[in-house]
Amino acid sequence: MNEQSVLQMKLKNIFFDIITNNNSLSINKKMLLDISRQLVDILQHKQIAIYILDEWNNQYKRMTVYPKYRVTSLQETIPLSEFQKKIPFQIDKGNIIIPINIGEKAFGYIISCTETRNTLDELHMSIIQKESEKLFKLLHTYHQMKIKQNRMKFANSFSSRLFSKVDKSNILEELLTSIQNLYPNFKFNVLLSQEYKVDPSLPIKLLNFSGKFGYHLSMTAFLTGEPQIEIDKYQERLKLYVPLEGKQAIYGVLEVETNDAINFPKHELDFISQLASFTGKAIENVALYQSSNEQIESLKLINETSKMLNSNMKLEEIIRIVRKKVMSICDCSELGFVKIGETEPSVLEESTPYFHTKEGQVLAHYLTHRNEQEPFFAGDFNLIDGIPYRSVMIIPMKHDVFTYGSVIILHEEPNYFTFENFKTIQSLIMHSTLSILNAFLMKQLKQTVKTDYVTKLYTRNHLDKQIHKHMKTRGQGTLILFDIDDFKKINDTFGHHIGDKVLKQVANIIQRNTRTEDIAARWGGEELAVYLPGVLEEKGVEIAKRISREVEMDTNPQITVSAGVSAWNDAIPKSVVELFIRTDQALYEAKNSGKNCVIMKSIL
Ligand code: GH3
Ligand code: MG
Ligand code: MG
Repeated sequence: MNEQSVLQMKLKNIFFDIITNNNSLSINKKMLLDISRQLVDILQHKQIAIYILDEWNNQYKRMTVYPKYRVTSLQETIPLSEFQKKIPFQIDKGNIIIPINIGEKAFGYIISCTETRNTLDELHMSIIQKESEKLFKLLHTYHQMKIKQNRMKFANSFSSRLFSKVDKSNILEELLTSIQNLYPNFKFNVLLSQEYKVDPSLPIKLLNFSGKFGYHLSMTAFLTGEPQIEIDKYQERLKLYVPLEGKQAIYGVLEVETNDAINFPKHELDFISQLASFTGKAIENVALYQSSNEQIESLKLINETSKMLNSNMKLEEIIRIVRKKVMSICDCSELGFVKIGETEPSVLEESTPYFHTKEGQVLAHYLTHRNEQEPFFAGDFNLIDGIPYRSVMIIPMKHDVFTYGSVIILHEEPNYFTFENFKTIQSLIMHSTLSILNAFLMKQLKQTVKTDYVTKLYTRNHLDKQIHKHMKTRGQGTLILFDIDDFKKINDTFGHHIGDKVLKQVANIIQRNTRTEDIAARWGGEELAVYLPGVLEEKGVEIAKRISREVEMDTNPQITVSAGVSAWNDAIPKSVVELFIRTDQALYEAKNSGKNCVIMKSIL
């Protein structure tokens, strides 16, 4: 056996011993010390040091030196660039440097100090290298496997803990405590895009939107979904931003900070990214769960409201119900209902007090004009100076092409309403608008039925009803009947159109000479009536005369009227028909007395 074969055998023997005698096969200090000690023995060199790659700092770190008692000239760390890979052995100031290559990179170096130069020939050195590489390859593979196994275990239990949480705050807390245990020397923060109600003791911050040059790296991570590394060489600080990414969106960024590293090894980055993505998915689950709950709630609410509204209600009642619902959904401080009229928009009675102030009305008009067709949502409203409201929602009340008006919802605090609120209220308004429109049209229709198209006075039917009603509650009242004198002649001379105009003039004169509680109506053809509740017949005659005078003076073409007056009181049996007959008789008498006069027919 030659000398080299003997060395090879010896090395194989001691390495085998090392593997079999060590309980753990990790590359730890004890193991490395064992190796160095054996190498010193075999090679009879002065001192041996083993360096292993420290990926966090792009350097080789001296893991062991044997024997220790000797003063060593060997540095504690050597930068990556100082070792030259692929040069098998360098002899440098009496030190033999033997690289241990695993895969692409030199995994480590064995440096052997000899006192004399070149005590080993190349063949010997190559044997040492080959045998050491075999040993380290085995140890390294085992080590990697162990780490992988542990991380898989960790990731499993971490994710099962995460997915059992039902609240975002708890999920973030789980991430932060778990990852802190795993990397005790690093500092962790979670950056969120908006404020959430989370435990204030947790290291949670708002995302920084802008950096010195464009986006801050944390924002880049948030927008692109790619982890970002920031190396601050002067402060010797490294920061890593990892997105918390779910399937549908990115929910925040995990910030990792350390002063102990200048490089983030890829397998570590992949592992942290994996934990971050578990977190993103867990947040997404919770968010989906909450949003489906909210959707169910909002559907229930709309269903409930629709049922209520379908029961054929008055416009004012419907608006009051909608107001109550909107307030319960979003807890706003002011709520305005604005109706778009033929000329100006008008604020409805049911709006909250602010909308009845001058300032509130100006705002209501402005916002209604601005957002007549499309819903509007602002968390930081600043379109008008001096408005104390920062959160604003505007929802048009629209059905097909017809826009009735809009609902304006306000709160002083910025970002007070959630987008969920906005969506729910939008569908609530959408479902209520048809009822609002129906009630509004019904109100208009009733008004139309009550009034005469030509004169705008009440119809005879309405007058009838009102007198009936009044007779039940009050003690007396007077009825005046007017008939235009020789109206036929007016029509014949000037035409029907002018006839109509004169009729309107008479109606206006009657209206401006009566109080709001009096009821002026078109009795038929060119006969007009006024009922004066609570008024005695003498007073009625006075009013009839005043009106007659004004008619004679103010009509064009000029006409006159005849009038009959009659009254009722508690002293006689109440009958609308009798009152009508008596007043009609009085009018008849006025006609027979030469027209343009007022005749009163007393009860008895
Ligand atoms: P008298 O002084 O006796 O009341 O004479 P008169 O012509 O007013 O009376 P008469 O009852 O003979 O005719 C009423 C006329 O009023 C007949 C009709 O053409 C006209 N008249 C009724 N309603 C309207 C209306 O809405 N518009 C117009 N232009 N004319 C009307
Ligand atoms: Mg007549
Ligand atoms: Mg007439």
